[in-house]
Amino acid sequence: MPFFRPKRRRKESEGAPGHLSTHTIRKVKRHVVESILASGSSTYPNEFGAALRSEEVETITDILLIPGTTAGKRHANFQLYMLPVDLTVVGTVHSHPSGALHPSEADLTLFRAWGRIHIIVGAPFREYNWRAYTNLGEEVTLSVVD
Ligand code: ZN
Repeated sequence: MPFFRPKRRRKESEGAPGHLSTHTIRKVKRHVVESILASGSSTYPNEFGAALRSEEVETITDILLIPGTTAGKRHANFQLYMLPVDLTVVGTVHSHPSGALHPSEADLTLFRAWGRIHIIVGAPFREYNWRAYTNLGEEVTLSVVD
């Protein structure tokens, strides 16, 4: 049987991007949590915003600063059109200087528009001052892994 092998830009060792792009996020690397809490703290009292990347199945592996994202006193202004065309980008993270960990109405609109997993970190940015939400705004528990 003839074997049709289309030219691919990705090496096979990189895995199946289709699978990576649709898997459910259940875990987050510890260094990501530490980094987003530190970023929220260092930009306080302004907001911090970034994209979340997943280069391992089910796991947020790093953050990606979005070009053109402005930290404002009211809300991080996500420039979604500035996002790179990158299947490893799975969602967003932003901080709430108020300390509230629930999504605002504007956040829910953003969540619904794009991405699969969204994290909110809040003042005082200690170890547990963060929550993760689905694109529908439902809170989900992510395991912190090394
Ligand atoms: Zn928000």
